[in-house]
Amino acid sequence: MPCHGTDPILGAELADYEIEEILFTEEQIQAKVTELARRISEDYIDRAPFLLIGILKGAFIFLADLARRIDIPMEFDFISLSSYGSSTKTSGVVRIRKDLDSEITGRHVVIVEDIIDTGLTLNYLQRNFAGRGAESVEICALLNKRTENKVHIPIKYEGFSIPDVFVVGYGLDFNERYRNLPYIATIKK
Ligand code: 5GP
Repeated sequence: MPCHGTDPILGAELADYEIEEILFTEEQIQAKVTELARRISEDYIDRAPFLLIGILKGAFIFLADLARRIDIPMEFDFISLSSYGSSTKTSGVVRIRKDLDSEITGRHVVIVEDIIDTGLTLNYLQRNFAGRGAESVEICALLNKRTENKVHIPIKYEGFSIPDVFVVGYGLDFNERYRNLPYIATIKK
């Protein structure tokens, strides 16, 4: 469904940004983030301070909102990966562009990811962190695509399940654009 009107943040015609359909509004996302933060706070109260690890760049907005609603002691770290895929699909061959700053041996870790497609990226990271001696590694992903041929990985904290479509906004980009949108939408190709 084409989306018309004026973008409330950017003050420009939505059509200028080739936005096709808004899948989740700012209000829907914020309600979900609050719910995930509450669950994490309850689950980790006996394991605090735990480590929240954000995958750059896509997870930065989700992580910032999530962390501010977690009301138990926690620490942050970040990792940046590059994947040898096209601009809209990962190949599963992952290279660490910026590694963690902290030692994670013996730590309880929650990986924060924007979106899971094939699951290859998180499958790699979860095994990598377990190999470094993390005490536990759980995943918190805002979006999970119903993609065929998915690698099965246990996702303890999942926001929304979505069809296999390419989405932008709330940290997610297309050629580095759209990350600042407060909602999640499909774009016209
Ligand atoms: P996976 O390894 O699970 O196939 O891919 C995960 C990564 O692919 C995400 O971290 C994200 O960078 C990218 N990705 C997958 N689907 C989308 C999408 O619909 N939109 C955007 N912007 N990135 C995506």
